[in-house]
Amino acid sequence: MVDQKLLVEEVKKIVSQEDVKYVIGYKKGTYGFAISPAFAYSPEYVDKFIFNPLCKKNLAVYPILEEKLPLKKGEKADTRKIGVIVKGCDSRALNQIIQEKGQKRENLVIIGIPCTGVIDQKKIISKFPNVTDYTDIEEKNGNYKISINGEVHNIPKEELLADFCTSCVAPNPVIYDILIGDEVEPWEPQEHNNLKELNEKTIEEKWAYWEEHFQRCIRCYACREACPLCYCKECMADMLTPQWIRRSVNLSENTAWNIMRAYHLAGRCVGCGECESVCPVNIPLMELNKQIENDVKEMFNYTAGMDVDEKPLFGMFRPDDPEEFIL
Ligand code: SF4
Ligand code: SF4
Ligand code: SF4
Repeated sequence: MVDQKLLVEEVKKIVSQEDVKYVIGYKKGTYGFAISPAFAYSPEYVDKFIFNPLCKKNLAVYPILEEKLPLKKGEKADTRKIGVIVKGCDSRALNQIIQEKGQKRENLVIIGIPCTGVIDQKKIISKFPNVTDYTDIEEKNGNYKISINGEVHNIPKEELLADFCTSCVAPNPVIYDILIGDEVEPWEPQEHNNLKELNEKTIEEKWAYWEEHFQRCIRCYACREACPLCYCKECMADMLTPQWIRRSVNLSENTAWNIMRAYHLAGRCVGCGECESVCPVNIPLMELNKQIENDVKEMFNYTAGMDVDEKPLFGMFRPDDPEEFIL
């Protein structure tokens, strides 16, 4: 657990710096188990900041969305830094974005928090439906201690932990300016959900499995909007000349969309689970992402976002790169 007082104290110091524009963190949401991103432009606002196992959102998505308005004549650009709170996977996303030159390292103040895993909102809501008042949660001795309307529930961690956290390769932030709290002991990453079982299926069975899921896709693009690595100025799915993917919602176009997105994230996805969590029709997107992550590791011995000085996977060439998949 992060010392809440220390978090607020340290973030206040950062927001007070002249060269910092604002700091992005977490605050209580408006109901139940909801958590909202918080943007602190002043030290007073930082009193709202919290960090607990419900703080799942990958905040690395926000600095990249910073709007750069056209400057008026004689006006100077605001070049102050943006502060952002990151867990392990979020820090990997920042690393990846910096490697790809989507963001400059010197424009960020990175506040790292070692992570012991986060709660899956869908799991906790199905266990405690209709909770409307804000709920305090802390992790203690392998349990989540949840206080609802004055009653305390101790729920074993594995019942609520987000599935993607069991295969986490870096719970401690891999890049930061300041670390709040002590590093945690990393755990042995597990195979994600039913990937092993899925890999034992025939091609036809795999195709049928994904068709069943893709036909439910409503093309809301929530997965794209929540993903810190989906930051192209113009997404291929929105292009009209040429039109790569039709906008019609049907199995063929939905499949093209989901496969295109998954492959665009190959060697870039950091496994933060945001895409799957926001999908309104529960498509198991992390199974696709994790399979590609495993393939990239096996073929190129590469894990996305681990080292800010490394080149992106598809921006480099090694003479011994496998090439048997090239036709
Ligand atoms: S994937 Fe790792 S760093 Fe990210 S929330 Fe889960 S345990 Fe924390
Ligand atoms: S969030 Fe789900 S339903 Fe929406 S576009 Fe992505 S995969 Fe399709
Ligand atoms: S594809 Fe999903 S898991 Fe991967 S970085 Fe984007 S949001 Fe995170």
